[in-house]
Amino acid sequence: IQDEEDKYDGIWRLSNLGVPVHRDPGKDFLGVSDGLLAAIAKVLKFPVASMLPMDAFTVVRKSFDARKLSKEPRFVYTVDIDVRKLLSLEPRTWDFIYRLKPKVGLVEHMPNERVSGDLISIIDDVKKNHQGSPTRENGSNIGFGSEKSYKCSTTRKPKIAVVGSGPSGLFASLVLAELGADVTLIERGQAVEQRGRDIGALIVRRVLQMESNFCFGEGGAGTWSDGKLVTRIGRNSGSVLAVMKTLVHFGAPKNILVDGRPHLGTDRLIPLLRNFRKHLQALGVTIKFGTRVDDLLVEGERVVGVKVSDSSDKLQSNSQKLRYDGVVLAVGHSARDIYQMLLSHNMVLVPKDFAVGLRIEHPQELINRIQYSALATEVCKGRGKVPVADYKVVKYVYGEDGDPRSNSGAISCSCYSFCMCPGGQVVLTSTNPSELCINGMSFSRRASKWANAALVVSVSSKDFDALSFNGPLAGVEFQREFERRAAIMGGGNFVVPVQTVTDFLENKLSVTSVPPSSYRLGVKAANLHELFPIHITEALQYSISAFDRELPGFISSEALLHGVETRTSSPIQIPRDIDTYESTSLKGLYPVGEGAGYAGGIVSAAVDGLYAGFAVARNFGLYDESI
Ligand code: FAD
Repeated sequence: IQDEEDKYDGIWRLSNLGVPVHRDPGKDFLGVSDGLLAAIAKVLKFPVASMLPMDAFTVVRKSFDARKLSKEPRFVYTVDIDVRKLLSLEPRTWDFIYRLKPKVGLVEHMPNERVSGDLISIIDDVKKNHQGSPTRENGSNIGFGSEKSYKCSTTRKPKIAVVGSGPSGLFASLVLAELGADVTLIERGQAVEQRGRDIGALIVRRVLQMESNFCFGEGGAGTWSDGKLVTRIGRNSGSVLAVMKTLVHFGAPKNILVDGRPHLGTDRLIPLLRNFRKHLQALGVTIKFGTRVDDLLVEGERVVGVKVSDSSDKLQSNSQKLRYDGVVLAVGHSARDIYQMLLSHNMVLVPKDFAVGLRIEHPQELINRIQYSALATEVCKGRGKVPVADYKVVKYVYGEDGDPRSNSGAISCSCYSFCMCPGGQVVLTSTNPSELCINGMSFSRRASKWANAALVVSVSSKDFDALSFNGPLAGVEFQREFERRAAIMGGGNFVVPVQTVTDFLENKLSVTSVPPSSYRLGVKAANLHELFPIHITEALQYSISAFDRELPGFISSEALLHGVETRTSSPIQIPRDIDTYESTSLKGLYPVGEGAGYAGGIVSAAVDGLYAGFAVARNFGLYDESI
C-alpha cells in the first residue's frame, strides 16, 4: 500500500465532465451528485459509479453549456480527485485507472502549489513564516506560491495615499495596510450608503451628483454593476484566486470560486464593500470620502503629496495640501480631469485603442428562448435550474476603412458584445450633465425582464485623427464627442436616444412609439445613424446581421438599441516601470487599474491593485525578497 500511495500521491484533475440537465440538481448545487459520479466513472472507465467515494472529489468549476454544438444542454464540471481517498477504496482498481490515464487524456496531475486562502491570510502567513512572499505569475518578483523571504521594516511607516476606492485602489490599500504602510484612501465620491441615495435621486428626480454617481464613489465603477467576475487574465491564476477568495472573505458567496461565470450583482456588492471598508479601518487606514484630488504636489521631479478639496466644492476654495511618501493613482477612466492634470505636469500619456457603440436590449425571455429552446422554461427568473441566459458574440470586419462591403481582406476593426447583463437594466454612467453615456447593471438573481449588452466597434488613432482629435487625449475627446451628440439627440434631461434594431438595419425611423426599455430616465426615438462616422455604423449593421445568424431571433422588432456606449476601457495608458509600478515620467507616483490602462473589469483591476500594493510595499522596504 505504501508503494501505491507514493506512486499516486496528490490531486488529479478531471475536466470537461458533462452532466445532462435532467441528471443534475441545478445551477446552485456545487457538490457531487449521482449524475456527476456517473460522468466521472464513465471517463475513468470505472464499472460501478456508486462505489466511488463522494468525498474523494471536489468540484472546482461548474458551468452551463447550452451551445447548439453540444448534443443536449448540460452542466460541465472540472473536478479534483484526492488520490489517497480513492486508494483507500481499492488500490488495484486505482492501478487500473492509472494505466488508463494517458489514454483518457482528461486526467492530469495537479501541481501542489495552489493558493490556499484570501489575501489577508496569505499576507498573514507570509509575515508569520518570513517566507513565501508573493511573486508575479511570470515568476519575476511578486505572485503566489514562491519560496522567497520577508522582512518587516523597522523604520518609520511609509505614508501612502491611494487615490480612488475602485477595485484597484481597494486591493492596493489592503495589501499596503496589511504589510504595515500608513495608508490614506482618498475617494471623491461617497460611501455606499450615501452613494445609494445619490443614485436614487438620479433615477427618480434626475439630479446628477457629479461626484457621486454610477462611476464615482465607494467601490468605483463596478459597484452599481452586474458584478460579473469573469476575466481574461486566467481564472486559475494565483492572483485571480486570491482576489476571489478575498471577496468571499468580505461576504461574497463561496460559489464564485466554482461557478464558470461568476457574478455578484449590486445587492451583494454593497454589503461586501462595507465589510471591506471596516477591515481597512481596523487596519488603521484613514478613508476620506467626498474628497477629490485636484493636483499632485511635486518637488524635484518627485511626487511628495496631493492637493485635495471637498468634492462638493467646485471652486476648490477649501483645498488642502497633504504630504505623502508615495501616491497610488487608481482613479478609473472616467476621471478625465485627472488626465488633464497629469499633462500639466508634463507626464507621458499614451493614447490607446478602445471601442464605442450602442447598448442593445432584448426581452430576457427572448434570449432564454434563443439560447435554450425548450429549456427556457427552466430559467424561472433566476430561481430555476439553469442560469438566466447570456451571450457573447464577436465579428471581425474586413475591408478598407471598416467598410464591410469593400472586402479588401484586411481586418479593419472588430465588433463584439461587451458587458452583457442578463436580467439587468440599462443605466446612466455620465459624470457630466452635458454628456450622455450608458452601461448595464443587475441584481444577484438577474430577475428583471430585460437582457442588455453593449455592441461595440474597436477604434484607434486613425478614427480620432479623422475627427481631427489628436494629442494624448485624442481618445477622450473622441468619447466626449459622441456623448455630447447622444445627449443632444435625446433632447436633454438624460433621456437616451433609441432605435429598434430593425430600423437601424434599414436606416429609417418608422417607429416613433418605441418598445419599452429598462432605462429609467426615459428614451426617445432617434435615427442612430446620425451618431457615429459611417464606417462604425456599417460595422455595427454588418455585425448585427452576423450575430442573428449565430443567435437566430437576435434581430427583432422588440430589440432596442440605446446610444451611446463609449467608456468600454481606458482611452490612454500611463507608462510605468514593469517591476516597481512607478510612473516612468514622475517618481513617487504609481498609476494602477483601468484608468491607467492596465486593467479592464473588476477582477483584473483588483489584481492590478494587488500587484501594485506589493510593488509599492517593496519599494518602501516593507518587505524584501533578497533576504
Ligand atoms: P474605478 O472602479 O473606476 O474606480 C476609480 C475610483 O476613483 C472611483 O471610485 C472614483 O470616484 C475615484 N476617483 C476618480 N478621480 C478621483 C479623484 N480626483 N480624487 C479622488 N477619487 C477619485 N466590470 C466587470 O468586471 N464586471 C461587470 O459586471 C461590470 N459592470 C459594470 C457596470 C457599470 C455600470 C460600470 C460603469 C462598469 C462596469 N464594469 C464591470 C467595469 C468595472 O467597474 C471597472 O473595470 C472597474 O471598476 C475598474 O476599477 P478601477 O479601480 O480601475 O477604477
